[in-house]
Amino acid sequence: MKLHEYQSKELLSRFGVPVPAGDVTTDPSEVKAIADKLGGKVVVKAQVLMGGRGKAGGVKLFDNSEDAAVFAKELIGKRLVSIQNPTGMIVERILVAELVDIAKEFYVAILLDRNIQKSIVMISAEGGMEIEEVAEHNPGAIVKLAIDPAYGLCDYELRKAVADANIPKEARNQMVAMIKNLVKAYEAADAEMVEINPCALTPEGKLIAADAKVSIDDNSLFRHKDYMATSSESAEDPIEAEANKRGIAYVKLGGEIGIIGNGAGLVMQSLDEITAAGGTPANFLDVGGGAKEDRVRSCVEIIMMDPNVKGLFINIFGGITRVDEVAKGVLAALEQANVTVPVVARIEGTAVEEGRKILAGSRIVPAATVREGAKMIVELALK
Ligand code: GDP
Ligand code: MN
Repeated sequence: MKLHEYQSKELLSRFGVPVPAGDVTTDPSEVKAIADKLGGKVVVKAQVLMGGRGKAGGVKLFDNSEDAAVFAKELIGKRLVSIQNPTGMIVERILVAELVDIAKEFYVAILLDRNIQKSIVMISAEGGMEIEEVAEHNPGAIVKLAIDPAYGLCDYELRKAVADANIPKEARNQMVAMIKNLVKAYEAADAEMVEINPCALTPEGKLIAADAKVSIDDNSLFRHKDYMATSSESAEDPIEAEANKRGIAYVKLGGEIGIIGNGAGLVMQSLDEITAAGGTPANFLDVGGGAKEDRVRSCVEIIMMDPNVKGLFINIFGGITRVDEVAKGVLAALEQANVTVPVVARIEGTAVEEGRKILAGSRIVPAATVREGAKMIVELALK
């Protein structure tokens, strides 16, 4: 789950990372007062979960509170579109922050490198622009340092990495301290990424996080209930937001065949078979183990919120999950959610006989195998 910039800065600041003073609001009439309190020179920043807000016109610097307030009024309610997010996002909230005087911009991040199965520190003196651009045009300008999970960050290695990244001498001690604090925040928040870009060096020689992005591992959200409260609004898609609220692992994929499976493996297999059969998967959805009737119903409802869905494929193998429970849930859901698209179900496992009896005579088409089911649903949905 991605945190907004203001949430990310609040988290990092609790771990000793310097961030500019600021306040967040949804009400443009509050902006002048907030800006005055900060001394008038402020930056107004759209709090939307997309990259490239600066280029999209969602970040603007002001030397007085009146102009900041005028801009805030235009910005709230506006749809911001960037290269990273062509559909764009509506700005509901803005951050009004003290304007940082920037002499140099650096990049620093802690993130999980799945290839080496370790977290790494990434440092670059080429901050400000997108790190992907730096990686493409000047990969040597990015220094990476793996964090040994047993020993943690090693002080002399970190100092060497900061120097190798060409961080100017006068800022190195601050950078080392900041990275240590970032790692603490990263670990405490069960983050998969914390990123500061730009990490600003002021003309007075002070290092400060002018922007911050944090993403928390969804599997740890039960330990971070305070963030869960905002998780629904922070999802990029309204259906994903609703699924988040209901605690359902759902990812929208944009195709036409809705998919429910129990266990990520079965869902992935369904995605592959549907694609092989010439269809396009609408979503990833894992109902989880031991799913009961009401949960299955909830999952069907979530999938049917997507207007592109022309057919529903259910792929359940009952281990802990009793397939008769699933069958009841699917039937109830089809009725209640007024589902009219074709439905094909492949069910197997615990209580399969009872499950099949429940489905017999309904409009759900049974399939013996996943491959057969995928072919059937693609044919029924797209004919
Ligand atoms: P992003 O485009 O979504 O990454 O948003 P950022 O917060 O990184 O802002 C984009 C750019 O605006 C930064 O790279 C800076 O150049 C500039 N910027 C943001 N905040 C400040 C600030 O406080 N002072 C100055 N001088 N520039 C800022
Ligand atoms: Mn940025």
